[in-house]
Amino acid sequence: MPRHPTPTALAAAALAGLAALAAACGGTRGAAGGGADIVVTTPVLGDVVAEVVGDLATVEVLMPPGADPHAFQPSARQAVALTEADLVVTAGGGLEAGLADAVEAAHDAGVPVFEAVDHVDPLPAGAHEGDDGHALDDGHDHDVDPHVTTDALRMVEVVEALAGAVADEVPGIDRGALAARAAAYVEELRRVDRAMGAEIARIPADRRVLVTDHHVFGYLADRWGFRIVGAVVPSPTTEAAPSARHLDELARAVAEHDVPAIFVEAGRDDRLARTLAEEIGDVEVVELYGETLGEPGSGAATYLDMMRTNASRLADALAPEADGR
Ligand SMILES: [Zn+2]
Repeated sequence: MPRHPTPTALAAAALAGLAALAAACGGTRGAAGGGADIVVTTPVLGDVVAEVVGDLATVEVLMPPGADPHAFQPSARQAVALTEADLVVTAGGGLEAGLADAVEAAHDAGVPVFEAVDHVDPLPAGAHEGDDGHALDDGHDHDVDPHVTTDALRMVEVVEALAGAVADEVPGIDRGALAARAAAYVEELRRVDRAMGAEIARIPADRRVLVTDHHVFGYLADRWGFRIVGAVVPSPTTEAAPSARHLDELARAVAEHDVPAIFVEAGRDDRLARTLAEEIGDVEVVELYGETLGEPGSGAATYLDMMRTNASRLADALAPEADGR
């Protein structure tokens, strides 16, 4: 802890403590003092990394469940933890905008940084009108959609690459045991992908339409043939404000495409989406877990569970038997 912690740093540290507790059953340890072998930015990736390495290495996850990965700022202690890690794991592609400077500092200090987005067939960011992602000029690649975790099959590629990076960068790790754990987790990912396919099969092709809070489900849409009609915040980040004109256009598109639901991130401010849904009428607002884990008992406390929960909520909201249309 810094000697004179700011209230924000204190709150972040307290939340990080909760996150470490929540993740303890996933094999996470070493979050308090001493420095972790692997420091991971988001809870979603943190769960994946913890499952892959188990007790073979220590893992610290910087963001607590429910944190907005675009906005999260590290505490001073977390910034130090980044520079002391054997490996830093991030989504990349500009997702963790509030952490960019701290990750950059770790990289400059010689810490290897694994970016998930580098290991998949990437999609372009925010392929919609009003997307201001390209206007940002902070040295990061905003041309790529960073929300890779919404496709379980792409995560197979991420996990296989991750296992290699961990084996190379964490000194003395049991490579055989690591490879076995990674292979077992890849099987879990494939099983979840099949389970999602079975749920989404309930939705006819012409009803696979997505309106979301920001452009978070591009990879899921690509995997399962959803058409992205629009987003309340027409950007690959949450850190933008939609214009009144954009909201009018979105409302028209929702009505035109007979979209039955707007999907929002669980636990986030969804007032804009609810107002929009009320104005259009006969539109449901449904919570998904696009980039945050849920609390224990939410059905989305792990990556695998959040994917299953998302698929069944999508099917419940969009399948014709759900609303009798
Ligand atoms: Zn996002």
